[in-house]
Amino acid sequence: MAATPLVVLENVNKHFGELHVLRDINLSVAAGEVVVVIGPSGSGKSTLCRTINRLETIDSGRILLDGQPLPAEGRALARLRSDVGMVFQSFNLFSHKTVLENITLGPTKVLKVPKAEATLRAWELLERVRITEQAKKYPAQLSGGQQQRVAIARALAMNPKVILFDEPTSALDPEMVQEVLDVMTDLASEGMTMIVVTHEMGFARRAADRVVFMADGQIVEENTPDEFFTSPRTERARDFLSKIL
Ligand code: ADP
Ligand code: MG
Repeated sequence: MAATPLVVLENVNKHFGELHVLRDINLSVAAGEVVVVIGPSGSGKSTLCRTINRLETIDSGRILLDGQPLPAEGRALARLRSDVGMVFQSFNLFSHKTVLENITLGPTKVLKVPKAEATLRAWELLERVRITEQAKKYPAQLSGGQQQRVAIARALAMNPKVILFDEPTSALDPEMVQEVLDVMTDLASEGMTMIVVTHEMGFARRAADRVVFMADGQIVEENTPDEFFTSPRTERARDFLSKIL
């Protein structure tokens, strides 16, 4: 029997008022899999990510993490948020905390890890994202690329089962995009389960196991990166690719 997929969405629907933003979404992500989600602006990619850690509720359907429905509230919801890491376009670091404190805060406050242990782990993570020399600085003293790598370390500090990346390089100056993608590529090759919304097609080709193409709240096409980029099956995907490649 195949292992339970880590993340499952079954017939998920979501409206914002009259707007039907997620339409019968079915998606299953295996442990260790890297899924890249692409599609035009407004197609529902961010909303899709946000439903998986319950930053957004859904109107119908089911979302399962490790075979369990997402909890609605309380301690179980807090645990879900640590199991499902999220890296945003805008970094969202705590500006009044140092880099090191940004990383130890979640583990000490939410997971009740002793401070010394959390700090030791934070140093390891800073090494992993290649930024140990910035540990004592505040976010505003860092470049965008450095801040985003801290955000990735902060997500990793919670030992997530899966990390959602929502356009993690879109707000970066071009020269900083690669350093963030390199860290993400390392994570992917180390077996981290990742759902990545991105327009970085080079990353998708290199790191993705699967590409999911969304338009108008629907998954229009799903394929290996190779197949998707060389022979998209739908007119919409062909049209989208012709505009971005
Ligand atoms: P994408 O990330 O693919 O650009 P989003 O998931 O952000 O798409 O948005 C999908 C649609 O839902 C868009 O039309 C957007 O304007 C709308 N939308 C997103 N968030 C909200 C919200 N909180 N309230 C109302 N409409 C929203
Ligand atoms: Mg978005």
